[in-house]
Formats: sequence, structure tokens, C-alpha cells
Amino acid sequence: MEFRKMRRDGQALTPAQCRAVLARGTSGVLAVAGDGGYPYAVPLSYAWQEDRLVFHCAKAGHKLDAIIQEPKASFCVIDQDQVVPEEYTTYFRSVIVFGRVRVVEDESQLRAAAALLGRKYAPEHTSEQLEQAITQSLPRLCVLELIPDCISGKEAVELSRAGQGPANPV
Ligand SMILES: Cc1cc2nc3c(=O)[nH]c(=O)nc-3n(C[C@H](O)[C@H](O)[C@H](O)COP(=O)(O)OP(=O)(O)OC[C@H]3O[C@@H](n4cnc5c(N)ncnc54)[C@H](O)[C@@H]3O)c2cc1C
Repeated sequence: MEFRKMRRDGQALTPAQCRAVLARGTSGVLAVAGDGGYPYAVPLSYAWQEDRLVFHCAKAGHKLDAIIQEPKASFCVIDQDQVVPEEYTTYFRSVIVFGRVRVVEDESQLRAAAALLGRKYAPEHTSEQLEQAITQSLPRLCVLELIPDCISGKEAVELSRAGQGPANPV
């Protein structure tokens, strides 16, 4: 299938800007096909590397059941939401990744993904501390990987006009 084009394409972020948003974000919302046809949109921490997203979670639960039934998902990261009351608007910037989620089964890949998350969220911890934490949590740890099929990013027209795109594209 073909992914939709943005109607207001002047507000679209470049691929590099999208990647910069994903690299610096600290949480997003994973949308999956939940129970009974209700979309299930669940907030998660994540890491972005080598053009894919990784998440950690428990080995059971609503999102895991949903992904096993239907791997197609989307993940949305809000980079900026600056409310401007006098203009009745918000100077926003966000990215949506559509893709397929898989459970990482291979132990070395699982450890690598957990280490990536650990380095992002606890950068002051030593490699030894991280390794110990990963080893301890391994029996309870599930790692998911979202491989993108389409990435789109959009910002408020006021930001695109002002050329205030992300400062550090990756
Ligand atoms: C900023 C942020 C970062 C997070 N990072 C992580 C992470 O990295 N890994 C992780 O596993 N979890 C994280 N969480 C918690 C996450 O949102 C889920 O609660 C958790 O992953 C359990 O999901 P589940 O589908 O297995 O829950 P289940 O307990 O199976 O869900 C059952 C029901 O509980 C309700 N529910 C579950 N989670 C939430 C929620 N967050 N808010 C409201 N209702 C809820 C829903 O109605 C759902 O259908 C984070 C939450 C926030 C807000």
C-alpha cells in the first residue's frame, strides 16, 4: 500500500529532521490494534538506532498480545507543544513512524537493545552497572523492535516559516 502524502506539505519535516526528533525524544505513544477493534495507544520510552526503534516491556500484557496478533503499528513522538494563547494555536512539531513490531528473541540482540536503552536513560551508569542490571532483569524482560515502513514529520506553519527546524539533524 502507499502511505498518504501530507496535505500541507510545506509543514513536512525532512527525513533528517524526523530522525533528529526521534533521536532526542524520551517518550512516544505506540498505537496498536487492541482488543475488540479498539485502537490501543500506549505511552512508552524508546531508543532509536540504525533506523529502527526499540522498546522494553514485560513479557505479558495488552500491547504484547496486540502485536502478536497484528505487528503493524505506529509510534508518535511529540517534539514540541508550545501553546500560544494569543494566536489560539500551538507551535508543534511531531513525528509518526509506521512500521512492523517484532519481539526480539535472540539473546545477544536483546542485550544490545537493552544496553542501548540503558545508555540513553541512565547515561551516567557504567557498562558494568548496565550489564548487571540487564542480566538481573533478563528473565522478565521483553524487547520489541519497530522497523519503519514510513516516517513522517510535521511542524506548525509558524515554525516552518521561521525556519526553526531541529537544530541538530542526524
Ligand atoms: C512516559 C512513559 C514511559 C513509559 N515507558 C515504558 C517502557 O519503556 N516500557 C514499559 O513496559 N512501559 C512503559 N510505560 C508504561 C506503559 O505505558 C504501560 O503501562 C505498560 O507498558 C504496560 O502496558 P501493557 O499493555 O502491557 O499493560 P496492561 O496492564 O496489559 O494493560 C491493560 C490495560 O491497562 C490500561 N493501561 C495500561 N497502561 C496504561 C497507561 N500507561 N495509561 C493508562 N492506562 C493504561 C489500558 O486500559 C490497558 O488496556 C511508560 C509510561 C509512560 C507514561
